[in-house]
Amino acid sequence: MILPLLKGLRRTLMTLFSRPITIRYPEEKRKISPRWRGMHYFGKDAAGETLCVACGLCTAVCPSHCITLEIREREDGSRYPGRYEIDALRCIFCGFCQEACPVQAIRLGQDYENVRYARKDFLLTREILLARNRDGGTD
Ligand code: SF4
Ligand code: SF4
Repeated sequence: MILPLLKGLRRTLMTLFSRPITIRYPEEKRKISPRWRGMHYFGKDAAGETLCVACGLCTAVCPSHCITLEIREREDGSRYPGRYEIDALRCIFCGFCQEACPVQAIRLGQDYENVRYARKDFLLTREILLARNRDGGTD
């Protein structure tokens, strides 16, 4: 009768002095892999403008069809996204858009805290993508 109890106590004592595997979230953040695919953001040039050249490769490769792109042209013939939106609720975070982009304009960040209360807040517009950075903050 007492043997199972002693065994249980032994296990408890062993765990008591071992390194904890839990962390004190949210004060303490978990270290994530550099290959983590979080919420999107735009790579920017020195002037703070998007690197996107509106080639449309990301929209073509996206399996969820959740990227909307409206192509505009400047006077010199160069292209830019007049409207660029990602519906993050439909996105499966496969990373194909990031891989397909020839100028590393669209990127997936390292953040993992993306709780929002309204569907509209999951619509990543061009302006939101420009304001966001790799860690989910704003520049
Ligand atoms: S991560 Fe995948 S599903 Fe999401 S926008 Fe990019 S290509 Fe589409
Ligand atoms: S984000 Fe990249 S792949 Fe998508 S349209 Fe812009 S330049 Fe092309």
